[in-house]
Amino acid sequence: MKAGVLALQGAFREHREVLDALGVEAVEVRVPEHLGGLDALFMPGGESTTIGKLLDTSGLREPLHAALIDGLPAFGTCAGLILLADDVRDAGDVASPPALGVLDCTVLRNAYGRQRESFEARLAVAGLDGGFPGVFIRAPVVERVGEAVEVLAVHDGQPVLLRQGAIWAATFHPELSGDLRLHQQFLTEGAAATAALPTVGAEPELATAPRSFRPG
Ligand code: GLN
Repeated sequence: MKAGVLALQGAFREHREVLDALGVEAVEVRVPEHLGGLDALFMPGGESTTIGKLLDTSGLREPLHAALIDGLPAFGTCAGLILLADDVRDAGDVASPPALGVLDCTVLRNAYGRQRESFEARLAVAGLDGGFPGVFIRAPVVERVGEAVEVLAVHDGQPVLLRQGAIWAATFHPELSGDLRLHQQFLTEGAAATAALPTVGAEPELATAPRSFRPG
C-alpha cells in the first residue's frame, strides 16, 4: 500500500508520522506526478484558502479532482474536509476557497468563533471501541450532509466525522491526537479494495506526543 499526503501547506508531516508508525509507505504530494500509483490520499489541516490557491499554482486541482471522482480513497481533516466539500461558507464572511466539490455537505468555516477556537472532546466513533480524542482547531461546522453521506461521529449534535463512499472527512485532527485508529480504520475500510492492508489489531503508538499546531 502506498498512501499520499497532500503536502502543500499545513499539518502534513503529522499525517506522515502516523503512516510511518503504521508501517505504511507514504509519499508527499506536491505536483500532479506524485498522484501516480497511490492507494489513498490524506488531505491535512491547515489554511484551506492557502491550500486552495496552491492547488491551482501546483497544477494539482484538476488531476486531483479527477482522481477523487475516479475513486481514489481520501481522508480530509479540518481544512482537508473544507477542500473536499461542495458547499463552503465562512463565518467571518471571508471569501471561501473554491473547493473540490466531491463531498456532499455544507460547511461553515471557523464556525466556533474566538471563544472556542481550539478544544478537545472525547468522541464516540462508529466502529471504534472506546472514545476517540477529538482535537478541534479553528474547526468548521458541518451544517448539512447529503443522503450519500454517513455520519460516523457527532459532537454537540453536529456531524464531525463523515464518509461518502471512499471519501472520509473529519472536522477534527486525528493526526494530532496520538491515536492511530482512525487512520488505520480508513486504510482498512476505505482503501482496502485497492491494496494490501497495514497490520490491523496491533496497537502501534506514535513515538512522540501530539504537538500543538496552529493553522497558517
Ligand atoms: N480554519 C481553517 C480553515 O478554514 C481550518 C483549520 C484547521 O485545519 N485546523 O481553513
